[in-house]
Amino acid sequence: MLRNHFETEHNLFRDAFRAFLDREVVPHQDEWEEAGVVDRSVWRKAGEMGFLLPWAEEEYGGTGLKDFRYEQIMCEELAAINEPGFMIPLHSALCGPYIAEYGNAEQKARWMPGIIRGESILAVAMTEPSAGSDLAGMRTTAVDKGDHFVLNGSKVFISNGLLADLVIVAAKTDPANKHAMGLFVVERGMEGFERGRNLKKLGMKSQDTAELFFNNVKVPKENLLGDAKGGFFYLMNMLAQERLTNACGAVAGAEAALNATVDYVKERKAFDRPVAHFQNTRFKLAEMRTQIDVAQVFTDRCVMDHNQKKLIPEVAAEAKLFTTELLCKVVDEGVQLHGGWGYMWEYPICRMYANARIQRIFAGTSEIMKEIISRGMKL
Ligand SMILES: Cc1cc2nc3c(=O)[nH]c(=O)nc-3n(C[C@H](O)[C@H](O)[C@H](O)COP(=O)(O)OP(=O)(O)OC[C@H]3O[C@@H](n4cnc5c(N)ncnc54)[C@H](O)[C@@H]3O)c2cc1C
Repeated sequence: MLRNHFETEHNLFRDAFRAFLDREVVPHQDEWEEAGVVDRSVWRKAGEMGFLLPWAEEEYGGTGLKDFRYEQIMCEELAAINEPGFMIPLHSALCGPYIAEYGNAEQKARWMPGIIRGESILAVAMTEPSAGSDLAGMRTTAVDKGDHFVLNGSKVFISNGLLADLVIVAAKTDPANKHAMGLFVVERGMEGFERGRNLKKLGMKSQDTAELFFNNVKVPKENLLGDAKGGFFYLMNMLAQERLTNACGAVAGAEAALNATVDYVKERKAFDRPVAHFQNTRFKLAEMRTQIDVAQVFTDRCVMDHNQKKLIPEVAAEAKLFTTELLCKVVDEGVQLHGGWGYMWEYPICRMYANARIQRIFAGTSEIMKEIISRGMKL
C-alpha cells in the first residue's frame, strides 16, 4: 500500500540516514555481532551527521526537528537492515527525552551537547532481577544525605549497559511509599558503580545488555532529574513514546521479513516449481501483506497523533501489542517458508527471527499492554 505519510524533507532525511547506515553500519554488522557490542565510534559519527536527538534545541547542538516522523524513519531504516545493537531510538527517543523533559537548565546545558554529539551514550535502568513488569516492586534505593543521595541496588537487562556513559537509574526514595522513586543520572566512573557481564541472548547479538550494580554510589543532588518522588510518574509518562518507537520498528521489521521471504520463495524450488507457486505460500504471504499494511496505517496515524500530543497510553499500547505480535508471526512464517535454511544464521530471516522475540517482552510485555488497554475500557 502506498504511504502518503511523509513529505519531501522526510524522504531526503531517509536517504541521508540510509546512506549513513550503508557506509558506517552495514559493513560492521558481523564484527559487532561477534563482539557483542557496537563500536563506540559509530555513535560519534551519527552525532556528527545530526542523527542523534534531531528534535533537540539548537542551543544544545540539535536541529529542532520536533516531528516524530524523523524518529520513525530511523526506527524503520535500522529495522530494514536488521541492526539491533546500534540503538539510536533508545538514545534519542527514550533516554534523551527524560533529560529534556525533566532536567533543569543546568543539567541540560551540562549533558545535552555530549549526548547529541554521540560522546555520552545513554541507557535507562528500571528492571531488576526480581522486578520487571511490576516496577513498583523494585528494591534499589536512594537515600537523601543532604547534598547527595546514596544509591544501593542492582539492575538487569540494561541495553547499552556497557557502552553507556550516563545511566538514568530509577530508585526508591521513600520506604513508606512504594511508588515514590527518583530518576538519578549515574555517570561513568562514579565510585561504587560497577557493570556486570555482557549477557548472552537469543538474539540482538550486537547489543550490549548488562547487569549494573550500585554499591553506596554517591550521586550529587545535581544529578537528580525532577522531583525525588516523581520518577514513577515520569517513567509512565515516557512509556507511550517508547512503545510507539517499538511499533515503528516492528512494522518495518515485519516488512523486511516479508521481503526476504518473498525473494526466497521465488527462487527456491520444490516438486519442480518455485515454493512461491504453492497455494499455501501465496495465502500465507497474502495474509502477511494485508496485516502489515493495516498495521502500518495504524502506526502512521499514532505517529501523527503523537506529533499533536494526542496519543494516549492505551492506544500506544495497542500499537505495540499489535505490531510486535505481528512481527513475531511474520518472522515465524518466514522461517517456515525458508525450510531448513531459515534456521541457518547466514540467512537474514534467521537473525530476524532471533531479534524479533524480545519485542513482545521489553518496554512492557504483551500481557501488560493488554492490562493497559483493558484498564482504559473501564470494564
Ligand atoms: C534484551 C533486553 C533488553 C532490555 N532492555 C532494558 C533496558 O534498557 N532497561 C530496562 O529497564 N529494562 C530492560 N529490559 C527489561 C524488560 O523491560 C523486562 O524484561 C520486561 O519489562 C519484563 O519484565 P521481567 O523480565 O521481569 O518479566 P516479569 O515481569 O517477571 O514477567 C514474567 C511473565 O509474567 C507476565 N506478567 C507479569 N505481570 C503480569 C500481569 N499483571 N498480568 C499478566 N501477566 C503478567 C509477563 O507478561 C511475563 O509473561 C530489557 C530486557 C531484555 C531481555
